[in-house]
Formats: sequence, structure tokens, C-alpha cells
Amino acid sequence: MSATIIDGKAIAERVRGEVAREVASFTERFGRAPGLATVLVGGDPASAVYVGGKQRACREVGIVPFDRRLPADATFDQVAEELESLNADDAVSGILLQLPVPEHLDGPSLTSLIGPDKDVDGLTPVNAGLLSLGRPGLRPCTPCGVMELLTDTGVQLEGAEAVVVGRSNLFGKPMAQLLLAGNATVTMCHSRTRDLREVCSRADVLIAAVGRARIIKGDFVKPGAVVIDVGMNRLTPEEAGNKSGLVGDVDSAAAFEIASAITPVPGGVGPMTIAFLLRNTLQAARYHAELQSMFADLDRDSL
Ligand code: NAP
Repeated sequence: MSATIIDGKAIAERVRGEVAREVASFTERFGRAPGLATVLVGGDPASAVYVGGKQRACREVGIVPFDRRLPADATFDQVAEELESLNADDAVSGILLQLPVPEHLDGPSLTSLIGPDKDVDGLTPVNAGLLSLGRPGLRPCTPCGVMELLTDTGVQLEGAEAVVVGRSNLFGKPMAQLLLAGNATVTMCHSRTRDLREVCSRADVLIAAVGRARIIKGDFVKPGAVVIDVGMNRLTPEEAGNKSGLVGDVDSAAAFEIASAITPVPGGVGPMTIAFLLRNTLQAARYHAELQSMFADLDRDSL
């Protein structure tokens, strides 16, 4: 049996097209476009490339990008001040602090200064809490992207055994919450899991987010499982066997023969993250617009 390749690039393209159309009607209705501010501290080249990609993606769908950069030696207070000024800026619907920040800064503490209504990464304690309570809020982009891949592929989550390898706040934990909300039976694995192979081999849906090249071997995969490979590991092109040198956490050649569907690396989960950053920015903009029109109605009523 050979797996279907889940084409994340095509699915992300479809999502971005939908967002572009919805942004156009938002802009027409409210007379201004949604805005996304990215905050980059320091000159890490990889982070600068990610930020550049996000800025470009915004422009392509009609979202106004705001590019804020601080020097590598910026203090906590300086970054906090920048975030506070963006929180107060009505033209900014969403704020993203590019992680990791330089070592002398505390990334999670800075992230938690972003207003929950502008937290398009879904990483503030308020949004993490809302997700855990099953209440509406802004959700982290990559897990949302994975849910869209599963829906697009027609995966039945209800009652399915789902295994998530990795328990980071950025991905593993919110992913597990979303799967649980989709009525899957969810197991989370991490570095202390006793028998990773055994747990993974029970999964109807296996999601790997570890950051270790090809840690998930073919015999970890249940025949017919759907495999989502979130990992992005850089090897030499020779080691990777491809031009980009990028490989996932799954031994994809082996898993391809056993799974029913699998995401490639690159071109699987990666493109979904930016697509959902744009979707979240639109969601935040709608939320602000509704709040403003509610206050306008209140003002009118009190006249
Ligand atoms: P992370 O914060 O480093 O978390 C890694 C997780 O893997 C931890 O929970 C860790 O367990 C677990 N782990 C480490 N070694 C393990 C082992 N031998 N067996 C089982 N579990 C093990 O990483 P992350 O931010 O979640 O990212 C994970 C990967 O996904 C990275 O390659 C990252 O680049 C990629 N990623 C891609 C996107 C995208 O847009 N495509 C987005 C997010 C992440 P402990 O908790 O016990 O340490």
C-alpha cells in the first residue's frame, strides 16, 4: 500500500485565497484593512527570513503589514514598550513576536504582554486557557493548520486514536486540545515516554513534532494510519536526499509504504502555518470591528 501525499501547499493556497476574498469584503465594509504587526528583536537571519515571508503573505491577501525591529541588545522594557504601543494602535489587528528572542530576554513573558484580542499566535495564557476550556479564542496557527489538513483529507476524528509526539506549548499541547475537541482519543508522548514505538503504533492519526530527523520509523506506523509530520530538521542535501536539506521527524520513505496518507516535508504542514496566521489576523480584525460597532451603538443609545 502506498500513502496519499497530503498537499499542504495546495491546501494552504486555497485557505489564502479564501482569506483574500474575506479581507476584501472586510475592507469594503469597514473602510480599512486588517493589520498585522511583526516584532523582530535582533538580526537572526532565519528569523528575518520568516518575518519577511509573513510580511509578503500579508500584502498578497490585502492585510497591511507593520514591520517593527529592535536591536539584539534591546532590553525587556524596550520590547514591552513596543508591544504596548501596538496593543494600543487601532490600525493593528494582530501582533506577532518572532521567537526565539535573544537569550537575555524571556520570550514567554514578553508574549504574554500581547493583548489576548491581538494574539494571532494564540500563545498568551488567556488564549491557551480559552482553548483548554473549549471556549472561542485565537488558536495557535500550526495546530489549526494541521486540523485543516485532516479535514481536507476527510479524516474521521470522532473516536479515532490520535497520538501527538511532542508536548510544546507552541504545538503539541494545543494540537492535543484541538484533537480532543474533535472527539478523538488523544495520547501525548514526550522525551520520557517509555515505549514510543508501541504508543505510536496504536495511532489512527499520528502527529510528530519533535525536532529530530526521522525519529518516527516505519514500524511506529499502524497500517492505514494518517501521518502528519510537523518536524523541520536541516541536514545536508546528501543526508536528506533532497535539494533543500529539509527533513521531517518521520522516516517518510518507510512510512509511505504503510500509512494511508502522509504530509511531505517540505510542502506539508509548513505552508499551513502562514495561511492560519493570516486567517487569525482577519479573525482578530473582525473581533475589534464588532467591538467598535457595539460601542458605537451604545453611544448612540445613550444620546
Ligand atoms: P520543542 O519545543 O523543542 O518540543 C519538542 C518536543 O519533543 C518536546 O515535548 C520533547 O519532550 C519531545 N521530544 C524530544 N525528544 C524526544 C524523544 N526522543 N521522544 C519523544 N519525544 C521527544 O519543539 P516544537 O517547537 O514543538 O517543534 C517541534 C518540531 O516541529 C521542530 O522541528 C519545529 O521546527 C517544528 N515546527 C514546525 C512548524 C511549522 O510551521 N512547520 C511549526 C512549529 C514547529 P520533552 O517535553 O520531554 O522535552
